[in-house]
Amino acid sequence: MTTLVLAEQRQGILASTVPHIVTAARQLGGSVTLLIGGSRGQQAAKTAARLTGVTTVLLLPDDTTTDPLPERLAQQIVQWMAVDHLDTVEQIVAAATPFGHALLPRLTALLDGSLVTNVMAINAPDSVTKPIHAGAVLVTRHLMRSPRLMTVTASSFTAAAEQEHRSATVITLPTLTMPTQATESWRLRPTSFQASHSNAQADLRSAAIVVAGGQGVASCGSFAIIEELARQLGGAVGATRSAVDAGVAASDWQIGQTGKIIAPKLYIAAGISGSLQHLAGIKDAGTIVAINHDPQAPIHAIADFSLVADLFQAIPALMTTLKQLATRPG
Ligand SMILES: Cc1cc2nc3c(=O)[nH]c(=O)nc-3n(C[C@H](O)[C@H](O)[C@H](O)COP(=O)(O)OP(=O)(O)OC[C@H]3O[C@@H](n4cnc5c(N)ncnc54)[C@H](O)[C@@H]3O)c2cc1C
Repeated sequence: MTTLVLAEQRQGILASTVPHIVTAARQLGGSVTLLIGGSRGQQAAKTAARLTGVTTVLLLPDDTTTDPLPERLAQQIVQWMAVDHLDTVEQIVAAATPFGHALLPRLTALLDGSLVTNVMAINAPDSVTKPIHAGAVLVTRHLMRSPRLMTVTASSFTAAAEQEHRSATVITLPTLTMPTQATESWRLRPTSFQASHSNAQADLRSAAIVVAGGQGVASCGSFAIIEELARQLGGAVGATRSAVDAGVAASDWQIGQTGKIIAPKLYIAAGISGSLQHLAGIKDAGTIVAINHDPQAPIHAIADFSLVADLFQAIPALMTTLKQLATRPG
């Protein structure tokens, strides 16, 4: 039995979610094969091959695009599986990211399998747990039909370690010719790639520390105070939808029901009220620190440490203390 992990890469760099998805795949049992598409997959494949638990890395070369399009990649995978792997691949796993959510429904339809999205725990190869109603309820789903496909919330699983002295076999698959009717159905063509400016410090989905700001920060017209604290702590920047809507935070910083689901060890929420939609994104966070000047704000009820204070006074004081601690001898 094989679990196929569909690994995302951008411009040859393996996505930070992949080591987490490998852990989820290992919990499903059997061998773990990783598949990477796109013309610059070699570099990402080298990193992927060192991940603990990965048996084989398959490179699906595609000279037409550096970052594979879901509709094209789905058809290539199905073609590859049709050659002789249809019986051995029991599970197909990808990260619960736009990449995974665009690719897996297409694959499910083409392979006539069963699909569950946003999996946060694996109970058995055919039984998984996922949140619904903005995380207020957890449900168990049974995947009745093989192959079983799932998108997995990366932050719910620890990252598989990179090994220094061992590497899985990397196999480059032959380029497959697409049937004309398949290529005619493609509706998208990549024209350019532009990295967003945001979160230069760390990836929000896999960061151990996240500093997030809400409307209380946005009201001053800048997110600089949050970015500075995140930089100082070596963490990632997060935001509420209100802060994104106010135009001071990037949209890919949004955490919550319609944003990212994260599970950092430390989550600092500044000027955030704690709406249900926001809390849906931090259910698996470790220690939650709330800085909010309203003692009645709902965020205080779920926080491990509450600071009822003005964030524009509390955060600079915190940064000064951190600097002093960092420079203190011993
Ligand atoms: C369908 C749907 C989906 C949604 N999805 C999401 C989502 O994914 N993520 C998300 O975040 N929201 C989402 N929302 C919006 C959500 O309902 C809330 O409106 C939003 O989370 C509130 O953001 P906030 O906490 O920043 O703002 P507010 O609720 O306005 O809270 C601001 C807080 O800052 C405090 N504050 C103000 N000034 C200071 C200061 N100087 N010092 C300290 N504290 C201060 C205030 O006391 C207040 O508690 C969604 C809504 C809907 C309807």
